[in-house]
Amino acid sequence: MIKKPVIGISGCLGGSAVRFDGGHKRDDFLMDKLVEWVTFRPVCPEMAIGLPVPRPALRLVRSTQGNIRMCFSHDQNEDVTERMTEFSRSYMDKLKDVSGFVVCAKSPSCGMERVRVYDENGNRGRKDGVGLFTSRKPASRKNHTNVLMHIQGYFSNYLSTRQRKELSEVILNYRSGTLPLLAPLTLLKHYLGEYPNDYLLTQNYFDPYPDELALRLMVN
Ligand code: SF4
Repeated sequence: MIKKPVIGISGCLGGSAVRFDGGHKRDDFLMDKLVEWVTFRPVCPEMAIGLPVPRPALRLVRSTQGNIRMCFSHDQNEDVTERMTEFSRSYMDKLKDVSGFVVCAKSPSCGMERVRVYDENGNRGRKDGVGLFTSRKPASRKNHTNVLMHIQGYFSNYLSTRQRKELSEVILNYRSGTLPLLAPLTLLKHYLGEYPNDYLLTQNYFDPYPDELALRLMVN
């Protein structure tokens, strides 16, 4: 029997009522479909650092020096940065068997990108933050971009100048968040079909999940 990969998941996406308001954000695709293929390992970082349910909402705050802190929205002087950073570090260090993560968008703890960051006066700033817990997560667009560019190198001798430029643009658009990972993967897969490479054909990076799950669309 094939061992299912272990995937970390934000507890609220799994249906646990762990959100600040006592609710959850159960994702039906994950819990009705993907659950057949993987073993989920849920975690709610905010509960893990000892916060209750319900609790005041948290936010990311950027200091004038550019440091990011995690504070309560109703009082930015109440700071849980150290607790969250310490928990995240020790949690991630122990994740030897976890193959990936599915995290809740926009959360100051779990959000993977484009999380709102406030200034020290409580003004809404840009959505350019990463959740404090997720910022410790090893895999990122940057990591994927490095892998994609590495793979791109295998085809550079076969491609025209226009094709190389197009491929670079698709990878960089993925890097900047305007395209899903599926876009550069599909293009690279197409070139792998045109110009087979024994080494690349043995890599499951191109097909890590059953097609029917379309998971690459879901996970950034
Ligand atoms: S900390 Fe993460 S898991 Fe917990 S409620 Fe917020 S988004 Fe969900």
